[in-house]
Amino acid sequence: MAIGAHPDDVEVGAGGLVAKLIKSGLRVGIVDLTAGELATNGTAEERREEARRAGEVLGLTWRQCLAIPDRGITTGKEYLMRLVEVIRKSRPGLILCPYWEDRHPDHVNASRLVQEAWFDSGLTRVGSRLPPFRAGQIWYYYISGAVEPKFIVDVSECYHTKRLAILAHQTQFGKSPNSTETFLNAGPGSLLSVVESRDRYFGSLIGCMYGEGFTTKSPLAIHNPLALLGVKE
Ligand SMILES: [Zn+2]
Repeated sequence: MAIGAHPDDVEVGAGGLVAKLIKSGLRVGIVDLTAGELATNGTAEERREEARRAGEVLGLTWRQCLAIPDRGITTGKEYLMRLVEVIRKSRPGLILCPYWEDRHPDHVNASRLVQEAWFDSGLTRVGSRLPPFRAGQIWYYYISGAVEPKFIVDVSECYHTKRLAILAHQTQFGKSPNSTETFLNAGPGSLLSVVESRDRYFGSLIGCMYGEGFTTKSPLAIHNPLALLGVKE
């Protein structure tokens, strides 16, 4: 399960990994905490349709918006329980969520909400119709900027898909006569070129074209050290 504050966050931070996992035969769903209705361009309705199309590009099994107000993400009980319900229903082995430091307060708050929902979903006495469940791992992806990742995934073979999934959010990353210029869609520092440069840099650190960086709060267990060396069992 990949979780974002806004409908394009997962695509920007982990679209390559999501595409790669799906290509490997895994089922992936995305939770958009908000509809991103405060964006300069695009209505909530347009953004919902773009998120659906991006999901098709990636090959998602499901995508759900929790309809928390944009700029209103908190760890209050109501929002916490909405996310706990989705986690218990889908029982993901892995949760992807925004890194805990970011220029956008919604990304920071999303990270906190996911951390708390991950914990509460495993508590028997936190009320819900569904049985308790706690995902094995949380991997944090980067949206605005990045610090040194704990590990980098080679997403070169899926990079075209990532790009198409980002561009499906046309009101955010595209330009039309009616759209307002923002840091997302205009200038040499537009977000798509920044993301591509970052992913290219991460790729260069591990000797491939494009990489996505992730970090974790817990140590990563390596069950098969030979796989790290590229040796098949
Ligand atoms: Zn965002």
